[in-house]
Amino acid sequence: MASTASDTQLVAKEPSEPPKKPDEKKTKFDVIIIGAGPAGYTAGIYSSRARHETLILSGILPGGQLVNTTDVENYPGFEKAIMGPDLMIAMRKQTESMGTKIVDDEVVNVDFKHKPFKVLTASEEYEAKAVIICTGANPRKLGLEGEKTFGGKGVSYCATCDGPFFRNQELVVAGGGDSAIEEATFLTKFASTVHLVHRRDKLRASKVMQERAFADQKIKVHWNKRVEEILGNEKVQKVVLTDTKTNEKTTLEVGGIFVAIGHDPNTKLFANQIDLDDQGYIILKENTKTNVQGVFAAGDVHDRRYRQAVTAAGFGCMAAIDVDKYLSEN
Ligand code: NAP
Repeated sequence: MASTASDTQLVAKEPSEPPKKPDEKKTKFDVIIIGAGPAGYTAGIYSSRARHETLILSGILPGGQLVNTTDVENYPGFEKAIMGPDLMIAMRKQTESMGTKIVDDEVVNVDFKHKPFKVLTASEEYEAKAVIICTGANPRKLGLEGEKTFGGKGVSYCATCDGPFFRNQELVVAGGGDSAIEEATFLTKFASTVHLVHRRDKLRASKVMQERAFADQKIKVHWNKRVEEILGNEKVQKVVLTDTKTNEKTTLEVGGIFVAIGHDPNTKLFANQIDLDDQGYIILKENTKTNVQGVFAAGDVHDRRYRQAVTAAGFGCMAAIDVDKYLSEN
């Protein structure tokens, strides 16, 4: 097994016998992890291997954003693309095999003001010495029927993840912020033309990003246009736009649409207890530490920059190592 300098302290503690099976009735844990995407599962693996009794409360739909993804070809370890749901099932099995208890229940409240911390679901009250928040973020949706119909079939929310599947095709990017420009610029590596569709006549993106987009011959900006419909048979074939001023409709024949209109971090539960920035992302004080001693965060819930499964997994590892240090010092 490859080991890095940062995980040697955890490896050193590993005993020879297999981990104990979690007790079904148990409600008191060393570590509770809220959320079961790549960050949550990786935190679980590292925490259990460090022999901390660890619970993951996964929410009702475990697996995070990758559950809605088809081919994943940028997660290391797979020679051929792996389906998002299969990757998440594999992560879950690996985490359980380390001894982490996983409960598919939704957290409805938390109390980080007193120790031990309390984490409540509708039916149970759990306690922990440390908590890792891995609740992720959701890409904002346009709210169109076609987004559901063609999810993974031409509708995407991540150019880094799905761009290479659209070589030599025309594509739409919806949005006018930095993300939209970044996605559009990245997609020019693959697409023949990128139609940037924005609902106003001014981009929200920073000037430097705008200049980059305007200078790119492959990016065509459609001002004052709203994406009205996404159409196709098996896959996306057409995107219908409506002019926000004249109501005139135009149709673009494209192979896909990337929606880049922002993300919403899942932090409502923590709003009064954990410091959040103006867009609701958790603010980290140092490494993976939040403003509350003993509460840590990992993945898209604090990371608006990278938003990748592999970076979320990396943050999960870092948070578990930080928790291990915290527990040994307290
Ligand atoms: P954002 O700045 O909130 O921009 C969202 C864009 O989507 C806006 O142009 C908005 O239009 C549009 N939009 C929102 N809802 C829409 C809807 N229902 N239909 C159509 N369009 C809609 O989000 P972001 O671009 O994801 O950026 C988020 C933050 O991350 C920003 O602070 C950004 O600077 C930062 N970021 C930085 C980088 C970088 O520096 N490389 C890259 C990505 C993100 P309006 O303009 O009309 O409101």
